[in-house]
Amino acid sequence: MKYYSLNRRSPAVDFKSAAIQGQASDGGLFFPESIPQLDKTFFHAIEQLTDHEIAYRVIRPYVSDCLQEEELYKIVAETLNFPIPLVPVTPDIFSLELFHGPTLAFKDVGARFMSRCLGTFMKNAEKKVTVLVATSGDTGGAVANGFYDVNGIEVVILYPSGMVSSVQEKQLTTLGKNIRALEVKGSFDDCQRLVKQAFRDEELRNKLFLTSANSINVARWLPQQFYYFLAYKQWQMKNQAPVICVPSGNFGNICAGVLAYRSGLPVDHFIAACNANDTIPRFLSTSSYDPLKAVATFSNAMDVADPSNFIRILEIFEQQLPELKKNFTSVSVSDTVTLQTIKKAAEQFHYTLDPHGAVGFHALEQYLRGHAGKKGFFLETAHPVKFPDAIVKATGTHVPLPEALLPLMQKEKNSILMENNYEALRSLLAG
Ligand SMILES: *Cc1c(COP(=O)(O)O)cnc(C)c1O
Repeated sequence: MKYYSLNRRSPAVDFKSAAIQGQASDGGLFFPESIPQLDKTFFHAIEQLTDHEIAYRVIRPYVSDCLQEEELYKIVAETLNFPIPLVPVTPDIFSLELFHGPTLAFKDVGARFMSRCLGTFMKNAEKKVTVLVATSGDTGGAVANGFYDVNGIEVVILYPSGMVSSVQEKQLTTLGKNIRALEVKGSFDDCQRLVKQAFRDEELRNKLFLTSANSINVARWLPQQFYYFLAYKQWQMKNQAPVICVPSGNFGNICAGVLAYRSGLPVDHFIAACNANDTIPRFLSTSSYDPLKAVATFSNAMDVADPSNFIRILEIFEQQLPELKKNFTSVSVSDTVTLQTIKKAAEQFHYTLDPHGAVGFHALEQYLRGHAGKKGFFLETAHPVKFPDAIVKATGTHVPLPEALLPLMQKEKNSILMENNYEALRSLLAG
């Protein structure tokens, strides 16, 4: 499979180059030259296949010229070493729980897959790769955990001091080895600005082989399709395709779902559920793309004003907005409604939503109210314990720490406190 740049001013490359480069040299996002089709027998037999077999068959056409069969199977098996259950919340609404991975967030799958691909590709390289990421909390933990102890790769994570939850901070700062956490005296936006500046620094890039690990990288984006196929395996009503609702920020996760649909996966409709950062809902109703400044919300992993991956969704629908709108809706959910939804789900359905899942649950419930007889699921993208402030505010009760997290919370934080300026980052990277 070749990947072309959506800016169309640089040559198409294979999966290996696309994964190592992250972004095309003309600044565009990589996109596969064709969308593989899965045949009917695959979907008929899906309940008999193991999760690893399903994932392997889905991803193979995208990567087969760069990874051997056994290598790929091993990567898939290591990526999916935890369950992804579809559980009922109401008779019509199911939750696809993506928080059973090592850092309790859906980003684990993409980060684990990408790290193992890069590890394989860099096995015999002379220079190490440095993965540089800014995080508001969730991405950093998944990347740190995914890349931990992978040969040939150094990871540097920038996070805003005092602005991530305690579980998130421990996940970033307690691994050691090839993972360095830089605690920046500034905001998430500052962290992102510093990272972008490093990527533009030619002199630094001559010294270090820098790459990023966010969802624009195809090696992180494509494996997110697994969720949708694994959900379908568990979907009991095979004669009625589900409505799928995805809490969305950078739109990487939902874009993977749309790609899965275009490969043949039965889906009734997609809903991209956003928080107050409503660029895409506004775009779909006015046809004018007008990103505002990002605002802070309880579902902070979705505080994105200009979602990078939406351009890929447009590409999948060949830039045809009417066609896109037949299959795809996007709505904005306020913080007030998010908290009300957490409270309601806890009281009425005995289900603890995290703020991101709450945005998804509410958007799906609203949609189903207007479309009688349909059923669907939302993606529960993080464990509620990662967002304790919102849960306490909504319900008045604490979320008990899962047993598996106790050892983590006892580990000692190990970070480098860093001034909020580029010189400080540069000397830490170069030194
Ligand atoms: C990253 C993240 C999202 C948003 O996913 P996108 O692919 O950026 O749309 C939603 N929920 C949680 C918990 C996340 O960490």
